[in-house]
Amino acid sequence: MDKVTNDSYESLMQFLYRAPVALVQTNLQGDVEMMNPMGAQLLMPLSREGNLENLFEVLYQVVPQLKELVQNFKPATGPVCESLRFTLREKSRGIRTHRHLSISVQKLDPRCLMTMVSDATLEVEREQTGLARRLKDASRLDALTQMPNREVVKEHLALAMAAAPGDPGHEFAVLFMNCDRFKLINDSLGQSVGDAVLNLIAKRLQATLRLTDSLGNSDDRQQIAARLGGDEFVVVLGQMMRPDDVHAVALRLIDVLSKPYGVGTHQLHCSISMGIVLRAQAVGDADAVLRDASIAMAVAKRSGGARYVIFTPSMQELAVARAANEAALRIALSEDQLFLVYQPVVGLLPDGIIDPSAGVEALVRWQHPERGIVPPVEFIGLAEQCGLIGALGDFVLRTACRQFMQWQDVLGDKAPRLMAVNLSRAQLVQPGFVASVRDALQTCNMASKYLQLEVTESLAAQDEGVQAQMHALKALGLSLALDDFGTGYSSLSSLHQFPVDVVKVDRSFTSQADTSQHHRVLIDATVRVAKSLGMRTVAEGIETLSQAAVIAELGCDKGQGYLYSKPLASAQIVRFIQDFKQLPVHSLQ
Ligand code: C2E
Ligand code: CA
Ligand code: CA
Repeated sequence: MDKVTNDSYESLMQFLYRAPVALVQTNLQGDVEMMNPMGAQLLMPLSREGNLENLFEVLYQVVPQLKELVQNFKPATGPVCESLRFTLREKSRGIRTHRHLSISVQKLDPRCLMTMVSDATLEVEREQTGLARRLKDASRLDALTQMPNREVVKEHLALAMAAAPGDPGHEFAVLFMNCDRFKLINDSLGQSVGDAVLNLIAKRLQATLRLTDSLGNSDDRQQIAARLGGDEFVVVLGQMMRPDDVHAVALRLIDVLSKPYGVGTHQLHCSISMGIVLRAQAVGDADAVLRDASIAMAVAKRSGGARYVIFTPSMQELAVARAANEAALRIALSEDQLFLVYQPVVGLLPDGIIDPSAGVEALVRWQHPERGIVPPVEFIGLAEQCGLIGALGDFVLRTACRQFMQWQDVLGDKAPRLMAVNLSRAQLVQPGFVASVRDALQTCNMASKYLQLEVTESLAAQDEGVQAQMHALKALGLSLALDDFGTGYSSLSSLHQFPVDVVKVDRSFTSQADTSQHHRVLIDATVRVAKSLGMRTVAEGIETLSQAAVIAELGCDKGQGYLYSKPLASAQIVRFIQDFKQLPVHSLQ
């Protein structure tokens, strides 16, 4: 080696020796062959007892996948990984510090790796301060709660999704929250009360997340809580290494946010439904992840609310199917694919005499162009959730009233004397509902006493707002029936709290009236309590003569079921009444 070459070799060595980055040469198994002083300095805190013999072992804690990355890298030369970031947590003199390192591995030839580790702390901090500064920007804050808004969440998510495995923030979870009864609060108590509740939710959310920090998620900047709009809130949790951590935070949030909110003199209850997307299921862009989280939230809500549901890809397919169903239902409403059938409700008179003209119950059907006739259980819930129930209910009510008046023309004093129409929960809480019922009656020229509206027990028990609405309906002069009685939560002892005129004993009781002493006793008690409160009773789902005999014996006023008639088209109702023949009387043993 001549002098010039010797000098440049020397300066090259010096250069490598002093380089502010760690340079480590290893074989493909990670055994260290050469390392510069910076390498030793940066890697030492990671080594066990100062052992730096194998790079894969040294880095295992922070980049566990490195060995696999190398094994899976088939080309003879080239980059195995570039700028993979990881965080070193150190404690010196009792003070915790974070150091962010960046690692790149290059395959130099078929048996040799060059690994470069550099300190990226400054760079990461600059990025994070930039993010924090932008967070403060007013246009990125929700005006009502001063929380970050949707844009910020999307940016945050985009960063997390771009993070490499092992990077801080790579293992994230998105928690999408919605209040179960917020609309009811807003509609019944006004927007300013609604806004106050949203502000309280925001405060609790932030306070709760700070609490969980001290339970292990030390880096504040790894998580974010935001309001997307309306009553939708989102939390992105970073540094969530185990799904168990996510479950714990989710349960805690649901618990804390479901406690009553004090606004003025009101104590308001608003439980939370939550949808969660875990890192492993997060695909597509930030919008897609938020959409998937909201799909899981809707599943939580449909299952009764006050719970969380973790997103799975099959939910997305179901959501697409639901959207198609929803579109089809909209078309059904606008193109007259919905129609009504009517099931006779007969009077149970003494000596087994049956009155076929006591009334009918209107039941909606959907004549689907491909699926044929679709029963209401398959689309009422959908209509409620997608906001079509108002239009659907209005169609049912007006059609039923119009039909009722036509029967009066055709059948005279033999015509049905009552029209029962089912209400769903969403209708009853709709502002303006009472006025629309009044309008339907007036338009059809139908006296209100001929109309009976049926509500289910769980709906009627709900709260003061619903009860007030029921009283307002009764004030129109119509009657109210408590549908499916016995299947809900409340018991006979609370029957007096419902402002209803009629109790409909559920089919599950009627169907066992003649075979189970227990059910017979329950029906007997229901009829007695109802009578004592001045309410009449109807037994639903009577299918046999022997059930009918027990029901009549127990003193029910009316009966309904396949024994008398299935639901019929309007013309068939005329024939049912005109051709009605008394049934044989079944003798009770
Ligand atoms: P519901 O109000 O309890 O109506 C009685 C249901 O029991 C009807 O089913 C009827 O066909 C069925 N049924 C009657 N008698 C018998 C019997 O003897 N045996 C058996 N196995 N079943 C019998 P449908 O028409 O499928 O209605 C189901 C539910 O859908 C109704 O339960 C009601 O809650 C709801 N619904 C129907 N029409 C409307 C509507 O226009 N608006 C709303 N909101 N809900 C409706
Ligand atoms: Ca009913
Ligand atoms: Ca019923």
